[in-house]
Amino acid sequence: MKAILYHGKHDFRVGDTNDPKLAAETDAIVRISRAAICGSDLHLWHGGLPESPNTRPGFAVGHEFLGVVEEVGSAVRRFRKGDRVLASCTVGCGACVACRRGVYSGCVVMTQGGGAGNIFGFGHALPGGQAEAARVPFADANLFEVPDSITDEQALFLTDILPTGYMGAELAEVSPGDTVVVFGCGPVGTFAQMCARLCGAARVIAVDPDEQRLERARQSGCEIVNPTKTNLVEYVLGRTGGLGADATIEAVGRGELITQSALVTRAGGRVAVIGVVAEPMVQLPWILFFMKNISLRTGLVNPQVHVPRLIPLIEAGRLDPTCIITHRLPLSEGVHGYEIFAGHQENVLKVVLEV
Ligand SMILES: [Zn+2]
Ligand SMILES: [Zn+2]
Repeated sequence: MKAILYHGKHDFRVGDTNDPKLAAETDAIVRISRAAICGSDLHLWHGGLPESPNTRPGFAVGHEFLGVVEEVGSAVRRFRKGDRVLASCTVGCGACVACRRGVYSGCVVMTQGGGAGNIFGFGHALPGGQAEAARVPFADANLFEVPDSITDEQALFLTDILPTGYMGAELAEVSPGDTVVVFGCGPVGTFAQMCARLCGAARVIAVDPDEQRLERARQSGCEIVNPTKTNLVEYVLGRTGGLGADATIEAVGRGELITQSALVTRAGGRVAVIGVVAEPMVQLPWILFFMKNISLRTGLVNPQVHVPRLIPLIEAGRLDPTCIITHRLPLSEGVHGYEIFAGHQENVLKVVLEV
């Protein structure tokens, strides 16, 4: 089959790889119709992976995909051939102590107690879905049926970034009437803004240095701040009676923005970090969090928890995830999609691959 294959830093290639096969009776094979390129795929694109047998060149990348079930193992109960499904980007067994508490991302079985990765597309153990097909382990726990009432494009981001944005609003305990600051107007930041409004935020202040992305946020109803032109802390304090925001969501993944979050959040407020902060160590103004009684929460997404709640919101027209799509490319042009996304070219926000 065709797939976008990892060959190293800045070296992804569309090429042929073996068709996925059932490896366990709980697996399913999904024939993919749509996939998307994610900001976390760019960590792989820009940084590569440490060498190991699992990360040798040639595995399919990508963790945001949906399609149609082609084959199921004998123990799969909830799905059969022909079902239209999306896959959670993080894979859990559905039965261990972590999964049963809703932390599928920390699945004891899939992470082998903590060492192994359980996200599609970062090695040969769990090849990705920017491909014509993928094997999904523990299909009953990690696949979700897509109802006929929503399109592939409406469902695609349920695999990762829409639940991630929702989790931001949830971890920040966004409540009716809140003023919420969201760092980042990329795909995840945009969904965090939308979900903050769904949870009742009265005002959402969107922060980004990219003017085109800010303009999109303004059109969707956010107040906007370009922190390279406006003093953000003064702006937020000036518009909240000197108090600060009730909740702040960091959707970029930079340690210094956690410090900024403490500065713009009111005493007793909440900060959620959903951006992937890849820095090995982050310096924090801990005394600020302490003196202001600010709670700080973070975590890797568990779409398994949020998808059942988000599908009805899409069906009801309360959420339109397709608003972030700026580029649609065939899988064969996927590497070009990476170049556009990595280079912030063509006013890109989200690239969808049609398989
Ligand atoms: Zn993703
Ligand atoms: Zn588990």
